[in-house]
Amino acid sequence: MSPGTPTDVLVVGGGVIGLSIAWKAAVAGHAVTVVDTRPGHGASWAAAGMLAPVGEAHFGEDALTALNIEAVRAWPAFARVLEHESGMAVDLVAEGTLLVAVDPSDLAATDDLLDYRRTLGLSAHRRSARECRAAEPLLAPGIRGGAELVDDHQVDNRRVVEALILACRSRGVTFVEDEVVEVTTGTDGVTGVVLGTAEALAGTVVVVAAGCRSGQLGGLPEHVLPPVRPVKGLTLRLRAGDGVAGLRRTVRGLVHGRSCYLVPRPDRSVVVGATVEEKGFDTTVQVGAVGDLLDDARRLIPSLEEYELVDITTGLRPGSPDNAPIVGRTGIAGLLMATGHFRNGILLAPLTAQAVAAMLDSRHGEHDGQGPFARFGPARFASPVRSGTGPVDGPSTGGAAPSDVGR
Ligand SMILES: Cc1cc2nc3c(=O)[nH]c(=O)nc-3n(C[C@H](O)[C@H](O)[C@H](O)COP(=O)(O)OP(=O)(O)OC[C@H]3O[C@@H](n4cnc5c(N)ncnc54)[C@H](O)[C@@H]3O)c2cc1C
Repeated sequence: MSPGTPTDVLVVGGGVIGLSIAWKAAVAGHAVTVVDTRPGHGASWAAAGMLAPVGEAHFGEDALTALNIEAVRAWPAFARVLEHESGMAVDLVAEGTLLVAVDPSDLAATDDLLDYRRTLGLSAHRRSARECRAAEPLLAPGIRGGAELVDDHQVDNRRVVEALILACRSRGVTFVEDEVVEVTTGTDGVTGVVLGTAEALAGTVVVVAAGCRSGQLGGLPEHVLPPVRPVKGLTLRLRAGDGVAGLRRTVRGLVHGRSCYLVPRPDRSVVVGATVEEKGFDTTVQVGAVGDLLDDARRLIPSLEEYELVDITTGLRPGSPDNAPIVGRTGIAGLLMATGHFRNGILLAPLTAQAVAAMLDSRHGEHDGQGPFARFGPARFASPVRSGTGPVDGPSTGGAAPSDVGR
């Protein structure tokens, strides 16, 4: 396909990733269909909406942290246009996050992480206990100290997915409320998908954005399926009633070795998160997990005692073997992956959408290996091709196989 020629793009999964891609692809002039039984209600609904490249910088994940920094910078423009096209606010707050420690060993762990983050050039400034409490008066008196994470922002993730659905509709994206059971391929690459109803939809490009279920689609050879797994997480939504002081700042705390965060919203609610559990596809709410989360949150902000508990949600993060996203072309022409965003899918959505939209417009992957996801392509996990598996190329280095995606 030549750049700018409309393509039939089928997006499997309408979470923040699939919806962002669908919207940007439609803006670029493509004819787009999103297939999902309940768009926006997977991990993207459970998330807290932190855009946290600094708070989420972990030892050994330098390349991912660089990607996350680039991602947070993409958010203001993305939010501005999304608000304009959808007509609704997404409540992006670019104010920085307070990192606080509850006991001396939490403080020591916080200091180690601060040192590491500074070696990556990230803005993190040490704050005394008194400075932390001046910034957020509701913090517990026993807080030992912490830091100001200047580049960690937040957005209301639920408003984001609702706004994306509106923006997609206004750009003519078709929504099909069903699930994809199979991706179909022919000698030249993908041909479409088969739905749960057995109906077939034709498409020249299929984007797999099915979150933690992206590795379970039928019709594809095993070595092309992305190695994503579900990582369970629980968030709580609390609200300050009349006469109860509301939280001012996003607070990320270390509480006797466990991490906990509180994200205030303009409507005086607070998102408290999050558990991290490897329990397969289980989404049940366990009393112990809710109790632990509330205990930790109250150690940080004792007055939460007076808040109303309004919502409990579990979600399954799409985890990958190296905790980084899997975005790019596969060895099957026309088949793109956009999954594995794990802890940072809200943060990475604008950058992912931009990258995938660019791939739709480049016939032979001329620009592959250059964009922000060059190191995060599917090929880094693709196993060697077995003979007789159809129109599949071998894995290439640099994150992208040179297939003809945008036919
Ligand atoms: C508790 C928790 C807190 C989090 N907090 C943050 C945070 O603060 N900041 C941040 O950046 N990230 C956060 N994350 C991570 C973030 O939510 C995810 O990385 C992101 O939502 C992934 O988006 P997605 O679109 O890939 O997946 P999802 O939102 O899960 O969407 C996938 C969609 O695919 C659909 N689907 C699945 N299979 C099929 C199929 N066969 N056919 C059709 N559709 C299908 C599902 O119905 C679903 O709607 C959090 C996650 C959790 C669970």
